[in-house]
Amino acid sequence: MESIVLPCKTITPKIPEISHRPAKPLISLKTAPPKPDSKLDAHLKNLCKNGRLNEAMASLDFIVNCGSTVKPNTLSHLIDSCIDSSSLDLCYKLHGYVRKLLKESDPFVETKLVSMYAKCGSLENAFEVLDAMSERNLYVWSAIIGACSREKKWGEVVELFYSMMESDNIVPDDFLFPKILQACGNCGDLETGRLIHGIVTKCRMNSQVRVNNSILAVYSKCGWLNSAKRFFEGMEVKDTVSWNAIITGYCQEGEIKEARRLFDLMREEGVEPGVVTWNILISSYNRLGKCDIAMEMMKEMENCGIMPDVFTWTSVISGLAQNNRRLEALELFGEMLLSGVGPNEVTLMSAISACASLKILRKGKEIHLVAMKVGYGEDVLVGNSLVDLYSKCRKLESARQVFDMISEKDVYTWNSLIGGYCQAGYCGKAHDLFMKMQKSDVLPNVITWNVMITGYIQSGDEDQAMHLFQRMEKDGGIKRDTASWNALIAGYLQHGQRDKALGIFRQMQSFGVKPNSVTILSILPACANLIAAKKVKEIHGYALHSNLVSELAVANSLLDTYSKSGNIISSKSIFNEMSTKDIITWNTMIGGYVLYGCPYYAIQLFEQMGKEGFRPNRGTLASMISAYGQAKMVDEGRHLFSRMPEYYHVLPCLDHYAAMVNLLGRSGKLDEAFKFIKDMSVEPDVSIWSGLLTACCTHGNVKLAVYAGKRLLELEPENALVRRLVSQLYDLSGISRESFKMRRPGKRNDPKEYLGCSWIEDKNVVHSFVAGGHHKLDDKFLLSYTRSTEIKSKETKYRDRLSIQEEEMEETGGVHSEKLALSFYLIRSPQTPRNIRIVKNLRMCEHCHGVAKLVTKTHGCEIYLSDSKCIHHFKHGMCSCGDYW
Ligand SMILES: [Zn+2]
Ligand SMILES: [Zn+2]
Repeated sequence: MESIVLPCKTITPKIPEISHRPAKPLISLKTAPPKPDSKLDAHLKNLCKNGRLNEAMASLDFIVNCGSTVKPNTLSHLIDSCIDSSSLDLCYKLHGYVRKLLKESDPFVETKLVSMYAKCGSLENAFEVLDAMSERNLYVWSAIIGACSREKKWGEVVELFYSMMESDNIVPDDFLFPKILQACGNCGDLETGRLIHGIVTKCRMNSQVRVNNSILAVYSKCGWLNSAKRFFEGMEVKDTVSWNAIITGYCQEGEIKEARRLFDLMREEGVEPGVVTWNILISSYNRLGKCDIAMEMMKEMENCGIMPDVFTWTSVISGLAQNNRRLEALELFGEMLLSGVGPNEVTLMSAISACASLKILRKGKEIHLVAMKVGYGEDVLVGNSLVDLYSKCRKLESARQVFDMISEKDVYTWNSLIGGYCQAGYCGKAHDLFMKMQKSDVLPNVITWNVMITGYIQSGDEDQAMHLFQRMEKDGGIKRDTASWNALIAGYLQHGQRDKALGIFRQMQSFGVKPNSVTILSILPACANLIAAKKVKEIHGYALHSNLVSELAVANSLLDTYSKSGNIISSKSIFNEMSTKDIITWNTMIGGYVLYGCPYYAIQLFEQMGKEGFRPNRGTLASMISAYGQAKMVDEGRHLFSRMPEYYHVLPCLDHYAAMVNLLGRSGKLDEAFKFIKDMSVEPDVSIWSGLLTACCTHGNVKLAVYAGKRLLELEPENALVRRLVSQLYDLSGISRESFKMRRPGKRNDPKEYLGCSWIEDKNVVHSFVAGGHHKLDDKFLLSYTRSTEIKSKETKYRDRLSIQEEEMEETGGVHSEKLALSFYLIRSPQTPRNIRIVKNLRMCEHCHGVAKLVTKTHGCEIYLSDSKCIHHFKHGMCSCGDYW
């Protein structure tokens, strides 16, 4: 294994003792005079002047060894040379000599030393010298404050200000005050800012425009706009900086109107705004998403003779990109290059990210070339966006090349490429990189771990995903967040493993991790069926607990899941409690009522929706035609359909046509339905013909049923169910199958395709039943119970109905699964249950439909049964489908 030398933190060395090895003197010094020798001083100064600092140091070493000395002024020259060399080693060396040479403390030299360390980047040593000084003046304080300010240590600047005032009783001058005020503004220390304002007024320094601008900037940056405004208005002299400060204040608080007013006032008062002023307003408009105004201002500034600089262009380009106007952003990027302004790293990043989102590789490559030309090829910001671009466009080799080029990679760089590999399904490569990252100086963060987990679980490697999930806290030292759990849940759901997903969801609760809206929105649709009703309630509880129900998307999803899991009452109560609703809310509720065969509620809601100012869309109108169909309000349905294009501005599509066929079919208007289909402007699909077939079977029209069946067969010749239906139709109509070259169904197809299955949940266990099958529990009893129920239901008769079914007849295929499920549940329950929920894969037959109706009448319970056609809600011996399904 190759050995990696990890860079370690630089340790500040101690001031070295003076070397005993005598350096070779450059001038001969036969006798060492005890007092400063002016010749020597002149020589040293001369060496410094000519940049021969090393020689000067050697001489100094000799001087020290001889017990001679130099003037403080000469030392000052040496210190200045050290500052110019910006070598900390030389600083330490010189400091060592100074200690030997100065017998008593010299504030002048010490001040210079503080400034030397501060300028050469060792604040720690500077503070050491400062603390040891017996007498500190304004200069030394200015030096150390200046250094902290350069390093953006705003908090320390403020602390130092208090120290100098309290321990040394020194008041800053009009050069130092602006530095301290700048720090106050940047760290939001309004209190100190106000204190300084008071001192400045007392010391009558308030005529200095520099100082005043700094006070104004503190009020403005801290968001104290009223104070800022009052102060601004009281200023006798205002320059461009003053105007910029007050305009920035209003922009930061989002008060763009006032900012604009001040901008106009500035021009009226004859102060011409500079490029900085224009940029403040332009970038503020962009941040607020008002890109058009920003672009207008950019033109206006050009008309005023001020050329937009790189910041102007960058702010408009990134503004457009962030407001989903990426193509325009790229166009503007091109214009910028044409105008001769070179991009900076932010411009390049914005443009490349726009290409990445749009997945336009060619343009992205062009910008990559531009970036290399202007010298940003190795920049980490630009590089990260390039890695992202190439990853998204599946050009992983290019992504890798850019990745290798970036000299100072940050965590985003690593995450982008690891994410790219994972998304492309190269989990192995992603894992290699992940391992390499752990050995680099950038450690994986929670996003890296989550990306890896997502990658593995989506590619189907559940074990690796779980392994990483376990390891991240123990070995990686990274606390799992909600997104880590969400990654597992989404992965399981993607592979249809609902129960595992729900298990992870529950585990998440027991670990005390709060789900977020992403969790709820992914897990809810997995429960949108009749046998998951209890789970929906459980998830609703968690969502309430985590305060997520107030989010519109979560509330809409709950509404939908409740209705699909057979709990329309809960849907309604969520609907009523929602303070804000959108079109999805209305459509889901109306659709829910249609699903449950409650057309009058749907119609009522539709009217209310109009009154509350919502415009119905495609989905609303399709549901409403179905609702009119269920209510047998044929005229209203026809009227709505005919008004769609002009009144609602929606062109009818297959959903609407299918709903119309259903509406006409329910009312027995078969000829009209047939004519309607013939006149359709789009090609009828399976839903249209099976709608007509249902209508024909219900109303006993064999001829038309055969016609619809043939069309279905043309559309789906391989569909086993369609073939089964059509062959039954041929038998009924007396047409021989051979004359239509019908293959006998069931020979070439897997018989499982026909098999009716039903599911029922009891005490958190889902039981499944197949037609003619046996259930391990109470087998004989179950069958005898089923038979006895059947005898009772024999009186149920269907006058005209054509008896064709998706399932094999019970006489040959055995008792249908939903009957078995129903009997099982009734036998198992000590008391008659209030409601029973069954899910079935095929359309239920007329006979089972009749049995279900009878059971609700004799047992006084309700049955919810979803089959391949609709949800049947049986109650008091009737069904919500109105016996039409
Ligand atoms: Zn049946
Ligand atoms: Zn029904």
